[in-house]
Amino acid sequence: MEPIPAGVYPTKSLRQTLGPAAVARLIREEKAEPIRKGWIRVGNAPADQVLAVKRGGVLSCVSALKRHGVWVPEDIDLHVRGNQWATRNRKGPFCRRFGRPEPEYGAIDDVPTALTYAARCLDAEGFVVVCDSILHLRLMTFDEIEYLFRAAPGCLQRLLSMLDARAESGPESMIRFRLRNKHVKLDIQVQIDGVGRVDILVGEWLIIEIDGYEYHGGKPMFTRDRIRFADAHLRGYTPLAFSYEQVVFDRAATNRRIMTAIRNGAHLRPSQLARPTPLSPDIDR
Ligand SMILES: [Zn+2]
Repeated sequence: MEPIPAGVYPTKSLRQTLGPAAVARLIREEKAEPIRKGWIRVGNAPADQVLAVKRGGVLSCVSALKRHGVWVPEDIDLHVRGNQWATRNRKGPFCRRFGRPEPEYGAIDDVPTALTYAARCLDAEGFVVVCDSILHLRLMTFDEIEYLFRAAPGCLQRLLSMLDARAESGPESMIRFRLRNKHVKLDIQVQIDGVGRVDILVGEWLIIEIDGYEYHGGKPMFTRDRIRFADAHLRGYTPLAFSYEQVVFDRAATNRRIMTAIRNGAHLRPSQLARPTPLSPDIDR
């Protein structure tokens, strides 16, 4: 018999796959353990799925999306949702969604199901950021997301017009969302001669980059970013860089810095340090 991979399984499907005798033997040999009526843990199953099933539901919402590789806002809670019976009869806490609860398919929800729950747990910014990441990773198409929320409230449907599959990181999506909310005109992933591709360009002259090892590929890239910044500055751009922590945890101060630069007109004209002479070609890049 093929060894069954570690995981949390509905007892019924496990019995169908292995046969009732084999399931009983796994339990006897302590290789498997019933953790809730109708559910069995096999081997070293992921702790979050075990916990979700023990709590009376399945792993869903942002916890499931994170497991699928989607960028989700920082959150220490375990997001569990129940089926229709569980939401009526068990205490939870369970995540909710627009419309009726889904049946339980497995111990962890797939991306579309988890997203319908995340839509009610996340704020507007978080929802846009998560959808951007799903699009960027090609886990769903825009049409699929639109269809998923066809019956959702208008405020949520309006957010769909703010999605952008080109966004390369969560913090970049966050900044874009905040600025678009303030009606700031910008573009993302813009190619600039002599500088390269920048995360966000506000107007013609204000560059916003999200820094950090995590998103820019380690120390060599970090150094290259410093050089790019110097070059951008010498060409008349105003480059602003923010770390992941600044964007995610210090939202107010970060927004204030960007909006101050915009109020000063940094996006409308070359910075005063711009020199008419071009960079000498022997600068090593
Ligand atoms: Zn949730």
